[in-house]
Amino acid sequence: RMDTAELEDGSSSAACYDTGFGQNGTEKASLVMLVRNSELREALSSIRMIEDRFNRRFHYPWTFLNDKPFTDDFIKYTSGLASGPVEYAVVPEDNWSVPSHVNTTLMRAEMLRMAREDIIYGDSLSYRHMCRFNSGFIHNQEVMRKYDWYWRVEPGIQFYCDVDYDPFTFMRENKKVYGFVISMYEFKGTITTLWDKTRQFHLGNGDYNLCHFWSNFEIASLEFYRSEAYSTYFEFLDSTGGFFYERWGDAPVHSIGVGLFAPKDSIHHFADFGYSHPPCSRCPQDDESHTSGRCLCNRNKNFDTDSYSCLPRWWKVAGINRGTE
Ligand code: GDP
Ligand code: MN
Repeated sequence: RMDTAELEDGSSSAACYDTGFGQNGTEKASLVMLVRNSELREALSSIRMIEDRFNRRFHYPWTFLNDKPFTDDFIKYTSGLASGPVEYAVVPEDNWSVPSHVNTTLMRAEMLRMAREDIIYGDSLSYRHMCRFNSGFIHNQEVMRKYDWYWRVEPGIQFYCDVDYDPFTFMRENKKVYGFVISMYEFKGTITTLWDKTRQFHLGNGDYNLCHFWSNFEIASLEFYRSEAYSTYFEFLDSTGGFFYERWGDAPVHSIGVGLFAPKDSIHHFADFGYSHPPCSRCPQDDESHTSGRCLCNRNKNFDTDSYSCLPRWWKVAGINRGTE
């Protein structure tokens, strides 16, 4: 059904296929994966699961992003699994490089210090590019402009339950901005001054409890990320160099941004989704999801109630009386 010879390539970084079958979802939305060529196997596994559990009925497009050109093999195998159109794009250089206002000597010194202190990814420059990209640039990529919503998918995740409704439609109709599955505490050492900087930008009081939505899964409004409020916030954060001197994750940045600029009831926990991104999993707890075969996951492996989970705090804030979920 697809011919890689159709790749209208040449120098172009993006190629688009249209598989042209089935009934398509009706939202301006895409499944989006930022991924390295070396992660092909893990990417295929994620795509297979999201397709089987959801997208085979909706045929939403997949958008693959990379800081380097995708290999022919990557394109061949990933497009083979997608039930919707696929698009591949290379991230522009200035969305994936150290901005000139950053003092690279200081940055290198801080990276060495963080390595000595065993701070996770503390000495990785590419990880910093990735976090900054996901915080401030992904929603403005040329290939993303046509979309209002994205579902962020990472290589190597597991997706355990059928989703037989359109979550993008759900988000739009219920005026949701941000959807998540797992929430947890951030390592303080990666965001030492993020909250101070945030308060400089947006006068406010109180402390940050380090809770964030785990952004390797996100179903979110791209319009929100493109909004004046969020964009200005990102630009301010970027101007401080904190993505490089520290190691600010896109998860706390997105979470604080959503917390500050989106109404509380526009945040949605997809309690009906079963999901795993090592080392954490969560699984719907209600009997029906399991007896119907809708979900296939171990109900005891559920991060929701782990001591490191922020979901109990979320339930409190959102006024959710925890029943079966
Ligand atoms: P973790 O989930 O925080 O442990 O970080 P990952 O290594 O999974 O990276 C998060 C996401 O960014 C995944 O989708 C990766 O495939 C992607 N990613 C991370 N680093 C790079 C990189 O240097 N290049 C590209 N193209 N993708 C990256
Ligand atoms: Mn990951």
